[in-house]
Amino acid sequence: MLISQPASLPRSTGRPLRAEGDWRQQIRQAVRTPAALLEFLGLPVGPDHTDPEVAFPMRVPLAFARRMRPGDRSDPLLLQVLPDADESRAASGFGPDPVGDMASRQAPGVLHKYAGRVLLIATGACAIHCRYCFRQQFPYAEERAPGRRWQQAMEYLTAAEDVEEIILSGGDPLMLSTRQLSGLSEQLALLPGIKRLRLHTRMPVTLPDRITPAFLTWVEQLPWPLVLVIHANHAAEFDHTVDLALLKLRKRGVHLLNQAVLLAGINDQPDVLVNLMERSFLAGALPYYLHLLDRVHGAQRFEVDLGRARALMESLRLRLPGYLVPRLVREEQGQPYKTPIL
Ligand SMILES: *Cc1c(COP(=O)(O)O)cnc(C)c1O
Ligand code: SF4
Repeated sequence: MLISQPASLPRSTGRPLRAEGDWRQQIRQAVRTPAALLEFLGLPVGPDHTDPEVAFPMRVPLAFARRMRPGDRSDPLLLQVLPDADESRAASGFGPDPVGDMASRQAPGVLHKYAGRVLLIATGACAIHCRYCFRQQFPYAEERAPGRRWQQAMEYLTAAEDVEEIILSGGDPLMLSTRQLSGLSEQLALLPGIKRLRLHTRMPVTLPDRITPAFLTWVEQLPWPLVLVIHANHAAEFDHTVDLALLKLRKRGVHLLNQAVLLAGINDQPDVLVNLMERSFLAGALPYYLHLLDRVHGAQRFEVDLGRARALMESLRLRLPGYLVPRLVREEQGQPYKTPIL
């Protein structure tokens, strides 16, 4: 289960950043029960939805819920966030740590799985809770890099030979305050070999108001090129507020990529995927990975079989320019990179 405690980081020594907008308030006001979300969309509330017995609580910012189609029980955004009774059913092959994260843990919150890049779990919290998320059962209370045991993370990063890129992930790293991000980047700047900083964040899509003037100021003063990988699974996740947030980042020279998860009933149709890639490009983000579902406990209803996934990729190759075709991958424990599926 994700937790939402703020991380305690070394304090930033830089100039004070401007007060941030109302994004935290928007998180406090997020929709937290299936009944409330269904009512908001004008949908009937069934007995399944009045007492959600799920391990991973629901959380949906209104900014995201407003992009759902009222009255549509099959809305692709709704299906990503609505808990389902099926989540408590055990399915063979589905477990708590499907990608072997715990095996690549080097220090608290530090995952070093692939050459040259280290992933830091900045926080366990997210603005939205996606039902298919593979990290929903990660022990976040123990596993945050910028916490009490940050010094251990720094020691590992200082001693590791091949760290050229730091990836801030989670959870969602933009759940940290800009002041905390600033403290973190100041620490990372003490490491001599870093060439790139990467953020894996869904917040420009789920809560675009997170891209505040203070955050943009932080982005501008980073000593490394910044790669920001957003996560959108359907074209309907983009609207003008998302476009504007991404435009602000592009204007600061941020490299934008989108990763998506192939999800049954949500984006497993050729037209839907073509629209997603084109819409993401329009917003300034090139397609990066299309992930096969990580087999996390409770997510079985989202799985797309391999044959269908391959056929979908073929239709993308037939219809899109090469640079709009994502790489279909699966994350496998013990492999030196995400396994390409051809
Ligand atoms: C996905 C992932 C990365 C990043 O891999 P890229 O192929 O560079 O995008 C790095 N570390 C971990 C632990 C990962 O899961
Ligand atoms: S935003 Fe990302 S990390 Fe958070 S629940 Fe969704 S998929 Fe998981």
